[in-house]
Amino acid sequence: MLEKLQSQPADALLALIKMYADDEREDKIDLGVGVYRTGEGATPVFSAIKGAETRLLEQQDSKSYLGPEGDMGFVQALMPYVFGEDATMGGRIAGMQTPGGTGAVRLALALAQRAGAERVHLGLPSWPNHVQILEDLGMEAVPFDHANADGSANLAALIAAIDGAAPGDMVLLHGCCHNPTGIDYTPEDWDVIAQALERNGVLPLLDIAYQGLGRGLDEDVAGVRSVLAAVPEALIAYSCDKNFGLYRDRVGAFYVMAQDGGTLDTILSNANALARATWSMPPDHGAAAVRIALRDPDLTREWRTELDGMRDRMRDVRRQLAVADSDAPGLNLAALTEQNGLFAVLPLDRGQIAALREEHAIYMAGSGRINIAGLHVGNIGKFIAALADVTQ
Ligand code: PMP
Repeated sequence: MLEKLQSQPADALLALIKMYADDEREDKIDLGVGVYRTGEGATPVFSAIKGAETRLLEQQDSKSYLGPEGDMGFVQALMPYVFGEDATMGGRIAGMQTPGGTGAVRLALALAQRAGAERVHLGLPSWPNHVQILEDLGMEAVPFDHANADGSANLAALIAAIDGAAPGDMVLLHGCCHNPTGIDYTPEDWDVIAQALERNGVLPLLDIAYQGLGRGLDEDVAGVRSVLAAVPEALIAYSCDKNFGLYRDRVGAFYVMAQDGGTLDTILSNANALARATWSMPPDHGAAAVRIALRDPDLTREWRTELDGMRDRMRDVRRQLAVADSDAPGLNLAALTEQNGLFAVLPLDRGQIAALREEHAIYMAGSGRINIAGLHVGNIGKFIAALADVTQ
């Protein structure tokens, strides 16, 4: 029976990682993999997380099962950061732990599908897994253009998608630090989006995977909060894998804002049933560490300071690239300072991307996406010179 399966294309980014590893040139630069790197090129464990893990090791007296909802202390500790002071919006928001943001996106979409959703409007380019998950669930991704050629967000395309949506359609929005473009909606854009969603009754799925890595913890969710204030119901997928550096520990949460408390319980019972049938229970360790870090004022301060440092470093790299614009004509690097987070897409063609790899040992995704955090004092000069070289 299994011989009927057809082999699937290898993940392009994983192939790139292998090529990079095999490259023996000492000054090679990896801009492919989507993890934060320090100025020394490392992806260390946050010291706030190390501190929390030390306590976890001392205090944890059982690894017995929790339940499909995971560590509810973690789920609740995160809520004020996402939703603000009235973190349950008067008893209308609740959530559960998921294996990473991926698990949360998957759960949110599967839940909406149970409620009858079939089509999801999605600005492209997007995180490739959005389309993969939709395809795997048998839902339709309805694409629109996320960005304008000048490096700004294409608000008109999103509003047209919302205005033209059929009953039962959803729209998937990146809360902040858009992957791959780094192009976010402005606060004014978010107000317009919130009104359009309210006007048309389109169910939003808000995917927040980089809170704190764009403009600041509150700033990065201001748009999400505008939407939540306007619409009757919404789904939220959250990842702690970037902003707590927990990537392989797979830490995420799924939240739902319902019309009222009664509906909320029914929705959550469905989310629980779906989680039970999919992964049964999420992995505990990373979420427990986040819970400990967020419940302890000293560890929380340490976490926020680390996050500030990461954000400042990435803004600094963006500024340095922006002023290099004149050396690489046609790239519009100046727009990078307006954009947020770990990623940007450079308008390079396949030949230029190949030349960067072959002639300069610079590795980036075939889409032209670069990891801003892959650049630092020691390699940014080389990168800028190489860009000028391949775009001459
Ligand atoms: N959503 C977006 C937009 C992402 O970029 C990512 C991570 N690449 C995720 C969700 C999922 O993150 P996680 O690693 O926590 O599954």
